[in-house]
Amino acid sequence: MSEPAIHTERQMIRPEKDTFLAEENPFEAMMERFDHAAQLLKLDSGLYKVLRNPEKQIITSVPVVRDNGEVEVYTGYRVLYNTSRGPAKGGIRFDLNVTLEEVKALAAWMTWKCALVNIPFGGAKGGVVCDPTAMSMQELERVTRRYTSSIIETLGPDSDVPAPDVNTNERVMAWIMDTYSMHKRHTVTAVVTGKPVEMGGSLGRREATGRGCMIVTREALARLGMSLKGARVAIQGFGNVGSVTADLLAKEGAVIVAVSDKSSGLHNAKGLDVGDVLKWVRERRQLAGYPKADAIPNDQVLTLDCDVVVPAATENVITRKNAPHIKAKIICEGANGPTTAAADEILEKKGIFVIPDILANAGGVTVSYFEWVQDRGGYFWDEDTVNRRLESIMVRSFTEVVSWAERHAVNTRIASYMIAIDRVAAMHRLRGMYA
Ligand code: NAD
Repeated sequence: MSEPAIHTERQMIRPEKDTFLAEENPFEAMMERFDHAAQLLKLDSGLYKVLRNPEKQIITSVPVVRDNGEVEVYTGYRVLYNTSRGPAKGGIRFDLNVTLEEVKALAAWMTWKCALVNIPFGGAKGGVVCDPTAMSMQELERVTRRYTSSIIETLGPDSDVPAPDVNTNERVMAWIMDTYSMHKRHTVTAVVTGKPVEMGGSLGRREATGRGCMIVTREALARLGMSLKGARVAIQGFGNVGSVTADLLAKEGAVIVAVSDKSSGLHNAKGLDVGDVLKWVRERRQLAGYPKADAIPNDQVLTLDCDVVVPAATENVITRKNAPHIKAKIICEGANGPTTAAADEILEKKGIFVIPDILANAGGVTVSYFEWVQDRGGYFWDEDTVNRRLESIMVRSFTEVVSWAERHAVNTRIASYMIAIDRVAAMHRLRGMYA
């Protein structure tokens, strides 16, 4: 077999599919917060039932001929959670750990995220249960195209717009765009976001999630009367989100005291040279072995003595076990679902300021929205314009969450859910029930 198409360290990092502990079932974790927020909003029982259920769940077989001539059949999912506010928006992940429960949770989070930053999208997510690290580029292309054709009825710029997620990238988006366009008999760039810039992608999209994390961290520090300059930050995960967040925070004067990836954690109380660490990872694909820092276990990064912790790797890393040991004043959730509902209570009692995932990492979908707008208008913006508009949406959303939390005496996560659910519910009330 030739070179694997996608290199990743993201393999089997969670328990087997159906063995999620109650605390770790992502859909239940999402629902627990949803129920709390819906109760405070006094959501009527009809709307409560509507918003608790995904609109559409597709489970499909994806048969593919491997390079050795054998047929393999993978399972693919696409869940459209709610499309009342606009086309469904959400990434596609290729991973052995993909489950329907996880896809449902991620689709719901996308619904709340888009509503929270007030962009005209609903929420979706998709995935194929496969190990892309064990596939050739040609096999990966065949999986992508067959999966795309099997969910093609839902796809479209006006109905369902995928984006990259775990183990999918610009190249995969380019194949989806091509497959969809071949079926439609004309080129449709706006059917996916996160495409290469040469084929209608947006400048600034790659950095957008990390830039959003930097912006909301800066705003949170300011609320606590602290400056970004000199703030000590520890970051778990050094992929797209973690590394860009580290780089941009360091450029604004923060001191990055620790970073980690699947291979290792790195600690330097005086501050890491982020540019140098980035160079190391570009060359060696992992943090392990970096000489100008102490190696620490990667989960220790979360409980270090610092001002801000950014979990930017994966789900369920802050639990009832380690939450009591977190010393940071601020948690900026770069990853989706890094904190369990049980841990939330502990963090609240400790007075830690949490910037919840649906706010903290919304920069990515916001610039995906800009990409969709640019594709549909056929007119492309310079990077400064993209970044300025992103800054304005992130700051506005942060301010709305904080003032809602104060007004209703709730934590920032519940405030974010309340704002989002309120917006989706308002749209349902205006549209009425089609019968
Ligand atoms: P990525 O694959 O580029 O990077 C993930 C990083 O986390 C890698 O450095 C990996 O080694 C590390 N990692 C994995 N498991 C770990 C563990 N147990 N401990 C320490 N490090 C670990 O992924 P990404 O795009 O940066 O996404 C990270 C998270 O952010 C995911 O939850 C994703 O859903 C979320 N997110 C990403 C975007 C985006 O635009 N990329 C947008 C919104 C949310």
